Amino acid sequence: MLLVRNIKLKVKEDEKLLKRKLGKKLGTAVDSFTIYKKSLDARKEPVYVYQLLVETDNEERYLSADVSIYKKTDLHARYKKRDCTCIVAGYGPAGIFSAYRLAEAGFRVLVFEKGKRIAEREKDVQRFFERGILDESSNVQFGEGGAGTFSDAKLTTRIRDKFIEYILDIFIEHGADEKIRYENHAHIGTDEIRRIIERITDSLIARGVEFHFAEEMKEIIIDDNRKICGIKTDQGEYECDHLLLGIGHSAYTTVQMLKEKGVHIEKKDIAIGFRVEHPQSLIDERQTGSLIGEANEYFLRYKGEKGVYSFCMCPGGMVIPAMSEKDTIVTNGMSYAARDSGRANSAILIQIPKEEFTDGYDYLHELERKAYAYSGSYKAPAQNIDDFINGSLNELKYPSTYHLGTILYDFNDFFTEKDLVIIKDALRDFDRKIPGFIDEGIMVGPETRSSCPIRISRNVEYVSVNTSGLYPMGEGAGYGGGIMSCALDGIRIANAIIFSHEQIQK
Ligand SMILES: Cc1cc2nc3c(=O)[nH]c(=O)nc-3n(C[C@H](O)[C@H](O)[C@H](O)COP(=O)(O)OP(=O)(O)OC[C@H]3O[C@@H](n4cnc5c(N)ncnc54)[C@H](O)[C@@H]3O)c2cc1C
Repeated sequence: MLLVRNIKLKVKEDEKLLKRKLGKKLGTAVDSFTIYKKSLDARKEPVYVYQLLVETDNEERYLSADVSIYKKTDLHARYKKRDCTCIVAGYGPAGIFSAYRLAEAGFRVLVFEKGKRIAEREKDVQRFFERGILDESSNVQFGEGGAGTFSDAKLTTRIRDKFIEYILDIFIEHGADEKIRYENHAHIGTDEIRRIIERITDSLIARGVEFHFAEEMKEIIIDDNRKICGIKTDQGEYECDHLLLGIGHSAYTTVQMLKEKGVHIEKKDIAIGFRVEHPQSLIDERQTGSLIGEANEYFLRYKGEKGVYSFCMCPGGMVIPAMSEKDTIVTNGMSYAARDSGRANSAILIQIPKEEFTDGYDYLHELERKAYAYSGSYKAPAQNIDDFINGSLNELKYPSTYHLGTILYDFNDFFTEKDLVIIKDALRDFDRKIPGFIDEGIMVGPETRSSCPIRISRNVEYVSVNTSGLYPMGEGAGYGGGIMSCALDGIRIANAIIFSHEQIQK
């Protein structure tokens, strides 16, 4: 197969032209091809630059500076029936992809997920969004697919890893658009990702993975040598050789249990803030002028005494209530595949170093409860950004997309004096980068679940430093943030287990 680079199209040109351009570059007619990579070059007149894959005979004769031979590496695990039971606790991206790989390699895999399957979970989330009735086990954070199921399902990551292609292949095999393989900043959308995850679960069931949905791991069982030998759930007791812990960043009670069991846990820096909302048209005009006829994104960074940055920006999306505990308020963002709400939203976060709190979970819960106490309901505190800067409180310029309504609140009461100065400087800086950011924006919050306040320490073999057989993984263990990085971490853990078995058997 040939990889042909540097084929360009103007942004408004039809991709049908690619075949002709490819043929011209190779000097021969081409029947079919696939897009391997597509990126935007906006240095002069904006163009899309493509890398294309094409099957041909006599590959050598076409080789040039822009044409090379491409060989896809087979990353699938070698199947071998293994007498070893792995329990995966938590079925978010880390849990899904570790279970997938271990099953592929022939391990016996049991998955325990405290939340429900997506069909049931959707009803619980809908009831919460419409009527404010929260199920603490089945919500935006908990259930089949984990926290990213009700999200934008952006697949961006800064990590370079050959297993990214493996993960994207699995998404595509289960119904995702091929585009996710080659588009920069690919996203799936909440509507699509839910169906894809359901299909992945069904594939795993067909492979013999044993699923226990709506069953919470309550306790880990450790022997006298501090080796994991099983778990207790709210429904029974199960033995295992390895326990993979993919519990996400909202599993407060499970973390308390791990602490009581003496598992080594460290404190980690966190970030807090709010969501900002703007008309999507403002972002499109200021960013790239709607070059691609799609909702544009932005990434903003401000380096003051502390870092302030935009996070999890959702073009054409909506702000959602993302709490998992009653009497708290937590915001986040999601969008559908079409990204057509007409509204842009993003978290704006300030870093809080670990020296500023004793217990990160307590610190975050206090803020979440403070917001609820002010509101007296699940209506989220909200303010115009210019009012926040000026310390005033006026009716919102437009209603927020947040489902459960908002209540006017002065966010000057939310942050410390020192952090307020930094955040306001950051917002002024963002307004210089995107004019109108202050005057046309509203803020809704608080946003407190962007990163986990702890790390469950693990050694170079990815095992807990003081509990053998225990593999902490993903966001809740402090080793990932986002769908791709947590999926990759799950695969890393599965590979470590496969490797250790192969070493033992040698
Ligand atoms: C609204 C929202 C939007 C997001 N949007 C994006 C996005 O667009 N792109 C992106 O990359 N990231 C996004 N994220 C972040 C991303 O979803 C997370 O980083 C990722 O899901 C973390 O993966 P994980 O597998 O570590 O844990 P999680 O996905 O949090 O999954 C953990 C699972 O463990 C279960 N669990 C917890 N405790 C127990 C227990 N004791 N027993 C059994 N099960 C348990 C939970 O129910 C949960 O389902 C978003 C998050 C949210 C909340």
